[in-house]
Amino acid sequence: MMNWLKKMFGWFEKLINEHGSAKILEARLVQKDDEISALRMKNQDLQLTLEKEQIQHQKTRDELQRLRNEHSEEIRIYKEIEFRRSKRTDGKWAAFCPKCHLPVSGRGVVQCKDQKRCGWFVLIGKLSTDDLIKELGS
Ligand SMILES: [Zn+2]
Repeated sequence: MMNWLKKMFGWFEKLINEHGSAKILEARLVQKDDEISALRMKNQDLQLTLEKEQIQHQKTRDELQRLRNEHSEEIRIYKEIEFRRSKRTDGKWAAFCPKCHLPVSGRGVVQCKDQKRCGWFVLIGKLSTDDLIKELGS
């Protein structure tokens, strides 16, 4: 233990000698204090930036939620047809292809207007899409 302490003192003595004097050490401490001050200021700037970004993030989330609410749709699958109602359908039920979501209508056979790429259809007997919308109710 004492041997270790002697080595430490010797090391400090050597260190002080290598760096010349206590003034050099003092200058280094001042330099470190300046660096610490600069880092504290930078940290404050980053905190302010973070707070601004968090406020902006919250505003963006609120706007996203407002847009989601504005564009929300109620969707039902009835007799294999997709019915939707939302602001874009004036709040009324409208029929859509369940495969590609294009609007559909008809009586007996309801088929997608894009028969080339989609090809979806369904048989609904003597009923029409308007009849099915009435069955859906409000
Ligand atoms: Zn389709």
